[in-house]
Amino acid sequence: MDAVWDFILNFATTFKHCLKIIVEMDRKVRVRFAPSPTGPLHIGGVRTALYNYLFARQHGGDMILRIEDTDSTRFVPGAEDYINEALAWLGIGIDEGVREGGKYGPYKQSERRDIYREHVKMLLDNDKAYIAFDTPAELEAKRAEIPNFQYDASTRMSMRNSLTLPKEEVDRLIADGEKYVVRFKVEPGRDVEVNDLLRGKVTINSSILDDKVLYKSADDLPTYHLANIVDDHLMEITHVIRGEEWLPSAPLHVLLYEAFGWSDTAPSFVHLPLLLKPDGKGKLSKRDGDRLGFPVFPLEWHPEGGEVSSGYRESGYLPEAVVNFLALLGWNPGDDSEIMSMDQLIEKFDLAHCSRSGARFDYEKGRWFNHEYLQQIPDDRLAQLFKPVLRDNGIDPDNFSDDYIARACGLVKGRIYFVRDLWDQAKFFFKEPDSYNPKDIKKRWSEDTPRIMGELIETLRGIDDFSCASAEPIVLDWIASKGYHLGNVMNAFRLAVVGECKGPHMFDITELLGKDETIRRINLAVERIKA
Ligand code: GLU
Repeated sequence: MDAVWDFILNFATTFKHCLKIIVEMDRKVRVRFAPSPTGPLHIGGVRTALYNYLFARQHGGDMILRIEDTDSTRFVPGAEDYINEALAWLGIGIDEGVREGGKYGPYKQSERRDIYREHVKMLLDNDKAYIAFDTPAELEAKRAEIPNFQYDASTRMSMRNSLTLPKEEVDRLIADGEKYVVRFKVEPGRDVEVNDLLRGKVTINSSILDDKVLYKSADDLPTYHLANIVDDHLMEITHVIRGEEWLPSAPLHVLLYEAFGWSDTAPSFVHLPLLLKPDGKGKLSKRDGDRLGFPVFPLEWHPEGGEVSSGYRESGYLPEAVVNFLALLGWNPGDDSEIMSMDQLIEKFDLAHCSRSGARFDYEKGRWFNHEYLQQIPDDRLAQLFKPVLRDNGIDPDNFSDDYIARACGLVKGRIYFVRDLWDQAKFFFKEPDSYNPKDIKKRWSEDTPRIMGELIETLRGIDDFSCASAEPIVLDWIASKGYHLGNVMNAFRLAVVGECKGPHMFDITELLGKDETIRRINLAVERIKA
């Protein structure tokens, strides 16, 4: 007989599973990023948003941004704008959200109170939840009395709630305005299965769960759990892709879907691995960033009256580099490609290649990506990014043509990791040296140098076409004809024009600076170094 039952049960489960797959195939992929506006978006949250976006785009699905602001005590002004600005900067497009609108709105949970109230009532009417009046003091007393107290099937009948109080009293207390919460009635002793696309089936016993608060009359707001489930259902979310820290909530969420009768359309879960410290053990924190000198936020964050936190944008990262870097923290394309545009990431992204273990936050790799992307972008875009840096250093970029700035950037970009590094590498294109490197003077500037520089000036005066291709052979011929030491002359020339014996090819520099400026600088150096 048992075998028959086993067969029937197995068949039923398989059938249900098939049904779910069919339903899933039928449904348009819809994912959501659901941050709580409690502060600046952490870089781990950005990765979650990115994976959702890649998954949605790859499946021709929708990406929803839902603001989960039901915890009024943790609300931080400015956080929602910050989230929008950060996602926009990174190119993570949103199809439906507070700003974008959409037919499943409102997309901000604090504007959906009626919906939650109605759903709380559904659970109460179906005996899946109950009203509890226990005050904080009463709960405290219970905790002191019972070791490891948990509000659940083993204790709920000894508490002050609608399961233990007569209905009239419950009604009277509510009418009197007594504060209450609604708790989920977790049935103990059941195996709850969480199907995670990354981790497989995780089974936990419902007896370890407590009767979670779903709603608080004090602020007429649901808690995260209820609002999250109701919205995922109503917004027809097909895949919940979120951080691993939410895995412990998943069994409760499975039970909630069941309590509402929504199990067949419940979304699939993907719990992404944690981002780990670059060194040592544990989760990446803001302190690691402060300690090792890298941002953990996409944009700079200016808390009211607090200390400013650095951001990737303000630190000179290109959004493409940040996206590429983050995409590879917890996922690999299955081959050795590293540099991938957003479109390539969308094409290659695959949940099956996501890792289950934590991803070490290798910020040096982030710098490397930025360097690579800075080489790839056109010089005129680099020039635009460089303009604010020029301004910060007292140079008015309007005194130079866009083409001039772009060419200067192009000559030095091989040496930069950040846009701001352009200043150190290219400042001599924008102002004469204000000093000359003493070590280089010692090595390259002898008593004879001013005379040779005089001859060099004469040679340069005679060159009509000052381009690198034309000027270089003329100067080199002159050096050879005089029997001068090539290295000494060229380094003294460089010292005079740049201020030190470093930089790109000398005749590329002089081509851009032009004849007059080059000669002026040599004269200036002869005068100043003598003094
Ligand atoms: N509001 C939660 C957060 O701040 C959302 C978690 C989830 O995606 O379910 O991350």
